[in-house]
Amino acid sequence: MQIRNDWTKEEISEIYNTPLLELIYKAATVHREYHATGEVQVCTLLSIKTGGCPEDCAYCPQAARYNTGVEVQALMQKEEVLAYAQKAKDAGSTRFCMGAAWREVRNNKDFDRVLEMVQGVNEMGMEVCCTMGMLSEEQAEKLYNAGLYAYNHNVDTSEDHYGDIITTRTYNDRLRTLGNVRKAGIGVCSGGIIGIGETHKDRIGMLYTLATLPSHPSSVPINALVRVKGTPLENNTKVDIWDMIRMIATARLIMPMAMVRLSAGRAEMNISEQALCFMAGANSIFSGDKLLTTPNPAFDEDKSMFQLLGLKPREPFKDKKVSVN
Ligand code: SF4
Repeated sequence: MQIRNDWTKEEISEIYNTPLLELIYKAATVHREYHATGEVQVCTLLSIKTGGCPEDCAYCPQAARYNTGVEVQALMQKEEVLAYAQKAKDAGSTRFCMGAAWREVRNNKDFDRVLEMVQGVNEMGMEVCCTMGMLSEEQAEKLYNAGLYAYNHNVDTSEDHYGDIITTRTYNDRLRTLGNVRKAGIGVCSGGIIGIGETHKDRIGMLYTLATLPSHPSSVPINALVRVKGTPLENNTKVDIWDMIRMIATARLIMPMAMVRLSAGRAEMNISEQALCFMAGANSIFSGDKLLTTPNPAFDEDKSMFQLLGLKPREPFKDKKVSVN
């Protein structure tokens, strides 16, 4: 399978609609061509500034306008964050991602503190990632100079469905930030969520956006909606595991080099279901008992799952020489 950025929606649709076992087999084959078998990247995500966000993302418990019981917390102190990163490193994480519930990064003291955190985590020998909303070219450069390895900014869904989920910014705003990240030389982490009222066509549209970016994201998180009480999507239907597997396998086939991350929703999956996701090409997880504000499997649970399935954590900085960004 070649690395291509000129996929058409029809081609992606054909892959997506392949009979499931055949799709998993094909994805597993391509996975082995591009990645070491049994290697899974273990990332930890910490919410460094929680809640009170002015945006209206319909799935998000941190949006100030929804009554979800999330307690607003100002930006954490650098020392607290570095202590948490050390704990994650000791537990086997190689990538540490810091999330701030901001619409966009502002040039102020908080940003200066984040730059110090980035530098601190980088010096600990972990890949450091942030997810903090929209970013200018200049801010991206500052983050790069502080040692940022990747920046997460999900496209969330297809361009067509985007307006049904978020009205406070546009799909183009999203793509602009991804461009700024790419220009600065930071790894792009971008994926989306299923279970947010999208159609199969929207899922294909989202994968099309990601696979036709000027270069593929180095990480592609595939999230299943966590239905949080108080958000507009609280009563949505639970995502079917087979839909997750189909998304993961399609992402693997059209973006062979990317780390495909089994992200939100993993807490609701049993080990057999997760094993099928790994088989279909997922090779990255978030570990640690929380995923920003929602539950996630803890380090120990994942350790025993790795033992059972014969998986091993991926070393940090492994893709530095072969980065597709
Ligand atoms: S997803 Fe991010 S931008 Fe959207 S409401 Fe939540 S914290 Fe704000």
